[in-house]
Amino acid sequence: MIAMVEGAGKSLRILYIEDNDQNYYLVHFILGAKGHEVRRARDGMEGISLATAVKPDLILLDIQLPVMDGYAIARELQKKPELAKTPIIALTSYAMAGDREKALAAGCTGYIEKPINPKTFMLQIEQYLQPSTQGENK
Ligand code: MN
Repeated sequence: MIAMVEGAGKSLRILYIEDNDQNYYLVHFILGAKGHEVRRARDGMEGISLATAVKPDLILLDIQLPVMDGYAIARELQKKPELAKTPIIALTSYAMAGDREKALAAGCTGYIEKPINPKTFMLQIEQYLQPSTQGENK
């Protein structure tokens, strides 16, 4: 069971595990404009070690990554007691319908479809930050 982040609206520390520069810059721009701090890892090993070090409020997780895919990373992250309650949002390809079910099965709190839509991305994130969504997602 993963708890939602309390207090939507406060400045959050967000870790984004993403190998694609364009996606990272876009997300950094959108979230940075809202006052959130975004840290980046480019692969699972870096992501897991950075997550342990910075204890983010929220983890955004690309699925298609070199070496270790997003599902394996999600499972590893949840083995860390200090990260067990950190929401993980998978960023899945629209074309890969099975990704969403697999992401939830791997323990992700939810998913957002790529391509990232700058107009709706923050709202999609906030849906996982509101206490009212508690219990609806794993
Ligand atoms: Mn990728």
